[in-house]
Amino acid sequence: MMPVVRPVVIVANWKMHTTLADAGELASSIARATAHPRVTRVICPPHVSLAAVSAALRGTDVAVGAQDCHSEAFGPYTGSVSAPMLAGLATWCLVGHSERRRDQTETDELISRKLLRCFEAGLRPVLCVGEQLEERDDGRAAATVRTQLEGALGAIIGRGPDAAAGLVVAYEPVWAIGTGRTARGADAASMAQAIRDVADGLGMDDAASLPVLYGGSVTSATIGEFLAEPTIDGALVGGASLKVEEMAGIVARASVTAEARQSAGVA
Ligand code: PEP
Repeated sequence: MMPVVRPVVIVANWKMHTTLADAGELASSIARATAHPRVTRVICPPHVSLAAVSAALRGTDVAVGAQDCHSEAFGPYTGSVSAPMLAGLATWCLVGHSERRRDQTETDELISRKLLRCFEAGLRPVLCVGEQLEERDDGRAAATVRTQLEGALGAIIGRGPDAAAGLVVAYEPVWAIGTGRTARGADAASMAQAIRDVADGLGMDDAASLPVLYGGSVTSATIGEFLAEPTIDGALVGGASLKVEEMAGIVARASVTAEARQSAGVA
């Protein structure tokens, strides 16, 4: 049997930080400081800086992602940005980030429609899932993540086993986002495998190849614990992704895993 091939992916989520005046320069600096071709790198700036970041990254192999898209392609939705509008500016898109689930009360059903819009527009979605602290304390972390995956992916995979091709999932325990607390590597690793098992159970084609990232207060000091786990394929990085030296350290560590997987024939 052929070994499973999964890439190592580092996604930077700048959230509501940077301005048009500094976003392009920050993106260029990160691209220069993280030039490890075996690591897939994606920068997700605020929507208003997508064009500037896209221009700054032209000629590099760093991809541009959006932080969100609307659940409809077009329509009377003042102030919103849809997936077809992002195509040309971005090739990736975060969907279902816990800050949007919390602040915009996004449901799994809405997130499912956003995923569909991404696939239709040729954007590669990063679906974010993760439990609240009380759900983990009550032993319901895996059940919560399963419910989120079923709600977001069930209808899509129902259209055909390869309907979610290109999907990346980020496991982000909500209590670890922006708090300085991280999950234990072993816990994140078992959740990553559980995510692939759920995708497989839903009928996803080749779920063993689904890249699963960890997110939650990742820094250059903590990334190693997660990338030491064979089931984890990279990170979604928030706060630390605004610091060039942090991104340099994170991607340098990711390149070690990418090289090791390459040599072992598993990436
Ligand atoms: C995130 O934005 O998805 C995230 C994980 O943020 P932070 O790294 O700041 O916790």
